Amino acid sequence: MATNFAGKKILILGAGVTGIAVAQSLSKRGAEISLADDLVTETAGFTVAPTKSFSAENFDGIVISPGWKSDHSLITAAKKYEIPLFNEVDLAWQLRGELVPNQRWLALTGTNGKTTTVEMVTAMLRAGGVSAIACGNVGTTVIESVESAEKYEVLVLELSSFQLHWIREATFVAVSILNIAEDHLDWHGGFNAYAQAKMAILDRASTGIFNGDDGEVVSRSANWQGRKVFFSLDTPGPGEIGVVEELLVDRAFVSDPQEAAMIAEVVDVVPTIPHNVANALAAAGLARALGVSHESIRQALQNFKPDRHRIESIYEGNGINWINDSKATNPHAAAASLMGTMSAIWIAGGLAKGAQMAALVKRCKSRIKVAILIGADRELIAQELRAHAADVEIVFIDTPDSYQRGGSDNSLMEAVVRAAKARATTGDTVLLAPACASMDQFLSYADRGERFAKAVVKEHA
Ligand code: ADP
Repeated sequence: MATNFAGKKILILGAGVTGIAVAQSLSKRGAEISLADDLVTETAGFTVAPTKSFSAENFDGIVISPGWKSDHSLITAAKKYEIPLFNEVDLAWQLRGELVPNQRWLALTGTNGKTTTVEMVTAMLRAGGVSAIACGNVGTTVIESVESAEKYEVLVLELSSFQLHWIREATFVAVSILNIAEDHLDWHGGFNAYAQAKMAILDRASTGIFNGDDGEVVSRSANWQGRKVFFSLDTPGPGEIGVVEELLVDRAFVSDPQEAAMIAEVVDVVPTIPHNVANALAAAGLARALGVSHESIRQALQNFKPDRHRIESIYEGNGINWINDSKATNPHAAAASLMGTMSAIWIAGGLAKGAQMAALVKRCKSRIKVAILIGADRELIAQELRAHAADVEIVFIDTPDSYQRGGSDNSLMEAVVRAAKARATTGDTVLLAPACASMDQFLSYADRGERFAKAVVKEHA
């Protein structure tokens, strides 16, 4: 891949956070930047035009933002005219070679738990005295992190299946695969393609930390030749990380394989629920791969606070717990959340992105008392409830006429919260875990969670 961008005409597809960061970096390196986006028109001093106003053959290179489909006409044309295609992570990798050649990269992927886990890893590294930042799909771009004046010793990359689809060069000291379940099937065109994109992370590493409790991860990593370390909520065998009674235990990164070292107590992981303990084990594995001590890992876990909208407790009163897990944007995440409750007034619906709801409903039906359903694909969930959980009450909430996506009126979530309150009794959890993306009715999962929290607080004022 060429590293000299001076005087090169570069087209960047997508004027979102990643596209703008790449535009800034390449223009500093002398490239002539054009940005294509059908939704955004101007940003950060760069002019943006709709995709149809560009022809691929007029450019020396094209940068693809995550999420762009590989059959987009500009990408197909670029391939036809053999115009080099770039992505942000590989560009950042090139820059790393120039700016911070000793910087080490860790990476992880999975359907759920990525953000929580990269933040845990970063906290563990910092507790061990290593300067580190979480980047990629989490907020700060990889390119900004490489260029940062901090000159981080380690980057911890959260990689989505979209990013992994394009990466060809970046190389990681160790990677982790947390879990693989249905998500984004519409984009990838099916489960196998989605799972393969995730597994591609292994092409770029020599050590892998794998979820031994996830059948997909286990079977798809079976033929991989690198160093495999499995983590599990069960007793670890030699070479594994796991749980023994109330302790997280390391039998992988120890000097003698017969040895078992305590990492932390299970209750050091907050919230102490199975899937979060799994995230902590994965994080510990990555931190151990870089030599962070067990003591530092434990200290980081004890001080760790998950981000908002992830099983976030909003209000407790009359024996009813109100929880915002708006980040549960696919059935696998919603199932993990529902399994953490005994009797849920479950708020769900939105855009299913091609995912099936049957497995979720079958697995969690004993935990669901009432389902309050909203959004475009609510009928998908209702159908499965009628088929497999006939005694669950289904309540549809229509979008009120006064409600507008992104507007100040919060009537939709207020109606949802009223419906939940009318049905909740002592011992119930009112759980927003939609199993769907939010964009049909909200600006983002954060907007959805924020509106829910606001409505809950107002209802109890
Ligand atoms: P991601 O970055 O992969 O979306 P987050 O850490 O933001 O992951 O969590 C997304 C959602 O998945 C949240 O609703 C959270 O409660 C749930 N979740 C977190 N970790 C796991 C896991 N290991 N398995 C299943 N669900 C999880």
